[in-house]
Amino acid sequence: MRAAVLHEHRRPFAIEEVDLAPPGQGEVEVRLHASGVCRSDWSTVTGDTPSPLPAVLGHEGAGVVERVGPGVDTVEPGDHVVLSWLPYCGRCPHCTSGRLTLCDVAAPALLAGTLLDGTTRLSLDGRLVHHYSFLSTFADRTVVPEASCVRIRRDAPLRVAALVGCAIATGFGAVVNRARLAPGSSLAVFGAGGVGLSAVQAGVLSGAGTVVAVDPAPARRALALDLGAAHAVDPGDGDPAEAVRELTGGRGADCAVESSGATGAATAAFRSIRRGGTLVCVGLPPAGASVEFPGPELVRDEKTVMGCLYGSCRPHTDMPMLIDLHMAGRLQLDRLMGAVYPLDEIDRAFADMLDGAGARTLIDLS
Ligand SMILES: [Zn+2]
Ligand SMILES: [Zn+2]
Repeated sequence: MRAAVLHEHRRPFAIEEVDLAPPGQGEVEVRLHASGVCRSDWSTVTGDTPSPLPAVLGHEGAGVVERVGPGVDTVEPGDHVVLSWLPYCGRCPHCTSGRLTLCDVAAPALLAGTLLDGTTRLSLDGRLVHHYSFLSTFADRTVVPEASCVRIRRDAPLRVAALVGCAIATGFGAVVNRARLAPGSSLAVFGAGGVGLSAVQAGVLSGAGTVVAVDPAPARRALALDLGAAHAVDPGDGDPAEAVRELTGGRGADCAVESSGATGAATAAFRSIRRGGTLVCVGLPPAGASVEFPGPELVRDEKTVMGCLYGSCRPHTDMPMLIDLHMAGRLQLDRLMGAVYPLDEIDRAFADMLDGAGARTLIDLS
């Protein structure tokens, strides 16, 4: 397979022919068509998120099942699939209580650089290469756990489907699954990349009264307004929490979603919510980072702070539903696509992401 291999932190990717072993028990080989680039990949490039190297990164992909390993019975060759970077066992206490993103088997192994059995299917001239988040989508094919394969309708565009696999499920789920936003509520979204703009659209679809997007990139603020936000705030213009309070009648937002993971953003988002309001944090801060909230305000104002991994999604339920909403014209998921690059220009794709150009940059693997 042709893949972008990261050998060292903060170095360009190397495009190489990587050997891919056949799918083992409970595993599936997928011919990838598209992969998004996500800030979580970048955190691994920089070393802020520890995951073993060399590795094939990428965790937001879609494609077509090529062959299946022994014991696989939920997908078959030819099926179109979105890849979920957090498989689940379906049997542990978290899974059986519906908290699939906390699966006791898959979640602890997320950054181990292996598949679920603790080994890899990737090698380069006989040397071991690691997986990333069980998926490794910066490649033209991959082997993944069966539980990472979410079958979708065949008429859905695979580029949009790729983005459903991380950004869209995460942003949508933060609003719908975690905050359970009530109609008429005000929503502030900090960070208007692929995750934040999915949260904006989820807010609009949920009947939010007012949606305010906060982002330093002018193009992203414009896109947020196009996708239904009533206001877009440039944090460079002054305290964004104050701006959100002003735009919500002086009270503060009923709910805020922090999608950037940037230092200080969660604190600003906390300050932007009303007394009794809810903050959902989905943007991942660097390993070791702490987040500060003013203690008296937390208590006196009875504010709620929630962590949210992967939109607290149930992949096999939520992802086909998101695709259906898009195909019915209710979610404009194609508007989240920025530039599309071939695999050998992956470094440019990351440069776009860091520049805030477009919502989500894609790699074409078809
Ligand atoms: Zn991601
Ligand atoms: Zn489980």
